[in-house]
Amino acid sequence: MPAKFHVAICGGGIGGLAAAVALSRFPDIEVSVFEAAKEFTEVGAGIGVWPRVWKLLAYLGLDDDLASISATKPTQDEVDTFIFRKADQPEGLDFYKLRSRGTLLRYHRPDVLQVLIDNLPAHCKTYFNRRLQTYTQDRAKGTVQLVFSDGSTETCNVLIGSDGIKSSVRRTMLTNKSEEAASKGKLEDAERFMQLIEPTWTGIVAYRALIPTQRLQDYKDAHPEMNIRIPQTNSTPIMYMGQHINVVVYPISSGKLINIGAFHAKPELAGTNFPGPWVETIPNDELLAAHDGWEPELQAILRCAYTPSRWAVHMAQPLESWVDGNVALLGDSAHAMSPQQASGAGQAIEDAYLLATLLGHRLTRIENINQVLNIYSDVRVPVATEVQHRSLVNGSYFGLQLEGLDSTREHDRLHEIGDAVVENWNWAWATTLDPSISEAVKRLEASQRPRAHL
Ligand SMILES: Cc1cc2nc3c(=O)[nH]c(=O)nc-3n(C[C@H](O)[C@H](O)[C@H](O)COP(=O)(O)OP(=O)(O)OC[C@H]3O[C@@H](n4cnc5c(N)ncnc54)[C@H](O)[C@@H]3O)c2cc1C
Repeated sequence: MPAKFHVAICGGGIGGLAAAVALSRFPDIEVSVFEAAKEFTEVGAGIGVWPRVWKLLAYLGLDDDLASISATKPTQDEVDTFIFRKADQPEGLDFYKLRSRGTLLRYHRPDVLQVLIDNLPAHCKTYFNRRLQTYTQDRAKGTVQLVFSDGSTETCNVLIGSDGIKSSVRRTMLTNKSEEAASKGKLEDAERFMQLIEPTWTGIVAYRALIPTQRLQDYKDAHPEMNIRIPQTNSTPIMYMGQHINVVVYPISSGKLINIGAFHAKPELAGTNFPGPWVETIPNDELLAAHDGWEPELQAILRCAYTPSRWAVHMAQPLESWVDGNVALLGDSAHAMSPQQASGAGQAIEDAYLLATLLGHRLTRIENINQVLNIYSDVRVPVATEVQHRSLVNGSYFGLQLEGLDSTREHDRLHEIGDAVVENWNWAWATTLDPSISEAVKRLEASQRPRAHL
């Protein structure tokens, strides 16, 4: 079957590969993935997947593969998802059990990426060492020319920019919009577009580390007096919380590893420039010093971490549109967010699923690609922007900040923080993407209906 058009995906992370898998359901679309690195890779850390995203992964037929590598089994029942524990004191205090309908599935990231790679069909072409530098468009012909940093070029009809938080596609898109605004004398708009290019620092640094579970077990055996709990695959993950700090601990890789994410917020620094490299390997002593005075159980866990790293958490500034002609943003390039709703990759998968559904629709042709991309953007932008916002709000709750509550003294009211988190987060298990899909398809079909002549 001849292809109706060619989609180039720049960036083969979770978002880009999810888009490639989702598009591969439509044999009349040619798909190429261009990745800057020499192979597809993910950081060796944990990732959580909520029921809302799980449903899409099941639509894509990935659920069996993913279920087989998760020690936590997917369920639609109401389950305990997190224990919230005040831990910035010598003796910790469990104060809330977060329950959700359907579980937060927990994975080692490279395993998730591998499932996506394994499900790329043979007809999807993949290219490595191809770093996109910029693009140009011939709007009359409906083509996009990709220009790579090695000087090579490729042509496609749709460019999906899934090239992460430092996206070249986003940079080119906003530069184009700025130049267009300037050419119309709209100088304030031109300036605004340029200012939206760079991500901003959230004021949060995340310490990430993995622990071989056996190492923690050995430490426990050597210190029987400490009564350390070893996180088990069937035990409820614990969120250790303190003033402006929270530490998420859960097992991955069938219980062989324990994932740690420790988030330290300085809200007053949000929006300032982070002084130093965004990602750095740090000595374990820094990790321990950052949790000085915390309860012994957490300190014991952190003591067993190997090669911890420190990440300055940045977010993409929200845009009104993710589209420029036949080019669209997807995933972190569009809406990189703080990780406190465990939803950045999930939102990328939502983008991928919806965008592929629209591009694969029988009414989508080369001539109306821009219209179709605008429908994608109109439907997805408000949702992802809201999730970006909710992630920051969750972060402040996890750091025990709730208006009117002094968490250092009012321990009997800490459950109010738990209730606030549930209200802010339950969209991830209580809602689905289905209404957005229906709305987008309806808009596409309405846009292609012949207009009645009056
Ligand atoms: C500490 C932490 C914890 C998190 N936890 C969760 C969680 O539990 N659940 C969740 O859903 N999300 C989580 N996230 C968010 C999630 O990691 C990201 O949102 C997600 O990985 C983004 O995927 P992406 O494909 O858009 O971008 P990326 O994963 O950044 O992929 C971009 C790809 O593009 C390539 N690339 C870059 N530039 C170019 C170029 N110019 N040309 C070609 N290729 C290029 C890169 O090499 C890379 O392969 C977390 C984030 C952090 C920091």
